[in-house]
Amino acid sequence: MGLDDDAREYHRQEPPGKIEIETTKPTNTQRDLSLAYSPGVAAPCRDIAADPESVFEYTAKGNLVAVVSNGSAVLGLGDIGAAASKPVMEGKGVLFKRFADIDVFDIELDIDAVDPFCEAVKAMGPTFGGVNLEDIKAPECFKIEERLREEMDVPVFHDDQHGTAIISGAALMNAVDISDKDLSELDIVFSGAGASAIATARFYVSLGARKENITMCDSSGIITESRVENGEVNEYKSQFASPVEGGDLADAMEGADVFVGLSVGGIVSQEMVRSMAADPIIFAMANPDPEITYEDAKDARDDTVIMATGRSDYPNMVNNVLGFPFLFRGALDVRATEINEEMKAAAAEALADLARKDVPDAVVKAYGDEPLQFGPDYVIPKPLDPRVLFEVAPRVAEAAMESGSARTEIDLAKYRERLEA
Ligand code: NAP
Ligand code: MG
Repeated sequence: MGLDDDAREYHRQEPPGKIEIETTKPTNTQRDLSLAYSPGVAAPCRDIAADPESVFEYTAKGNLVAVVSNGSAVLGLGDIGAAASKPVMEGKGVLFKRFADIDVFDIELDIDAVDPFCEAVKAMGPTFGGVNLEDIKAPECFKIEERLREEMDVPVFHDDQHGTAIISGAALMNAVDISDKDLSELDIVFSGAGASAIATARFYVSLGARKENITMCDSSGIITESRVENGEVNEYKSQFASPVEGGDLADAMEGADVFVGLSVGGIVSQEMVRSMAADPIIFAMANPDPEITYEDAKDARDDTVIMATGRSDYPNMVNNVLGFPFLFRGALDVRATEINEEMKAAAAEALADLARKDVPDAVVKAYGDEPLQFGPDYVIPKPLDPRVLFEVAPRVAEAAMESGSARTEIDLAKYRERLEA
């Protein structure tokens, strides 16, 4: 049987799907039940009505995340609709649970328009400690996230935008260091101007890259000021318009230090790689096929090419699972009101730092005994490295406390110990 049939079988096995709800308190006696439900349950209800924050003490809110989608941009499948996206959203719930012990309700909304979508999610606010928006198409995803972040008092995070930004941002920090470059001087080319590319470009700027050094290309070539003036590009792409006449991706890549691919597979040639500056950094992250393969990029030149892709069969896999479980873990554990720039930067820095530490044998073994040592082929930790939980979540929690988004203060040393246990 191939992967497709195995996957069908995996999902169909009784009970269908991948998740269920379990109770966490005794439910054996009549007394247990009258505590769990009426009449006993009235006491915590009254307390929450009087003191809204006590909802975190009395309910599962503080460990519960909504994974919300309308199925408009699902994986590589496109706009397949809400119901068809449910296996993906359940799967996201599985990852939250497996990597950070966070519970998820997957919510598939049959709503495409921005306003009613936002109203529906906002109305669910009281239920959740956080909202992970998922697989919503650009540019609607930007508006939806912006608005919900403003109107909700729990973290709202569109993983397709920021996950890639944070993890490739960690890779960039280390790559820059290895190749002895300076973030603020990097000439960076983006292929793609969608959900992930726009967020990644913004994040690199917040890390110290200069906006005027970024050239962004979409399917029609370089986003130029004249295309903006002609009303050809949306307001999000316009922010990265370049003051050049025009040109395509090949023109943009000439002399560039960094290529960031968040577009489609196979569109970068060895010739284009050869036209880049010395020791280029190439993050070809289109899935499942990168903009250029690892081998072709490495073989194109004799100097050091630092290469990352979205694939597990090559070094430096940029995989969102390195980010969202631990960002939400840290955010939930201080009852954060948002996931802000400081928290995202803290996560990226923690990932970058972890890649510089010696890798435990168990992790090396899990990855087929290839040597994992800080350098061009290891600039970010491996997705299955168990240290990511206790290295990243406390740094996120710390950033939340320092930036004023935490509702509660915790002892970070004890917190880290608890996660490590
Ligand atoms: P998206 O919002 O649909 O954006 C895709 C962008 O690619 C659009 O701006 C599109 O241009 C552009 N594009 C299409 N064909 C192109 C071409 N021939 N040359 C240059 N640009 C082209 O999608 P997304 O969610 O940002 O994802 C984009 C890609 O990144 C996908 O392959 C996805 O799998 C991958 N990705 C990987 C990771 C990872 O961790 N490895 C994470 C997120 C996304 P127009 O705007 O003109 O249509
Ligand atoms: Mg996604």
